Amino acid sequence: MLTCETLIQKAVARIGGDSPKLDAELLLSHVTGLSRTSFRAWPERGVSAEQAQQFFALVAERVNGKPIAYLLGRQEFWSLPLKVSPSTLIPRPDTECLVEVALSIALPETATVLDLGTGTGAIALALASEKPDWQIMASDRISEAVELARENSQRLGVPITVVQSHWFDQIPEGTFDLLISNPPYIAASDRHLSEGDVRFEPSSALVAGDDGLDDIRLLVIQGLNRLNAGGWMLLEHGYDQGEAVRDLFASAGWLNIETRKDYGGNDRMTFAQTPAGK
Ligand code: GLN
Repeated sequence: MLTCETLIQKAVARIGGDSPKLDAELLLSHVTGLSRTSFRAWPERGVSAEQAQQFFALVAERVNGKPIAYLLGRQEFWSLPLKVSPSTLIPRPDTECLVEVALSIALPETATVLDLGTGTGAIALALASEKPDWQIMASDRISEAVELARENSQRLGVPITVVQSHWFDQIPEGTFDLLISNPPYIAASDRHLSEGDVRFEPSSALVAGDDGLDDIRLLVIQGLNRLNAGGWMLLEHGYDQGEAVRDLFASAGWLNIETRKDYGGNDRMTFAQTPAGK
């Protein structure tokens, strides 16, 4: 019988990359249901032939570059264990900065919020977990994402309303206090699309026209009509898009426009307010 230690050693030798040991332990834990710490405490523990086979099948997919989050079927975001699938983007730690900024904006006690292009539901669920009195809607154009966000909401017991909609097209009538989105923002020609995890993620969640700004342009224009007077829009964007996004907000007449950085010190999000009289 193969031991946990042997399986991990064999996998580490094959996986390579930045974190082969962590990847191997996560995959073995996924297959066996045993904790990662147990592999260190009991390295001699045996694993059934069937589990070893499942483990090596996952290792082979990892060697081909498939993101660990898709192999495990989950990713933690804002301490919430989210189910993920290849039909949506894998939630990024940097997007947690967006949640932090949203929570710091002065909003009504029972604010109405819309998370556009929610994917797994990450942003909407993080906000709902912090602000149970907010009324939070999340939308996505892709039906698999809508199902996934609903499933995550139910499994976590964090209620949000999920609507299938291409941006504002199918959003019910009415206005919000906060519009928030991590839209696609990568330029179609960006060579980083052919590297690492993003190769396996849906381009519908990543790519937005020649300059990566197509969807942000639409949100900045259409968002003005879907906010209450003095409401806010908060958008994630590329590290080099801060100035362009501020310009888009400014030319559309938004006020109090500000860009903030992510944990890596890069410009990552810009927010702006509608005029109070609107
Ligand atoms: N931040 C992601 C990346 O660079 C892209 C996310 C997005 O397009 N919304 O891989």
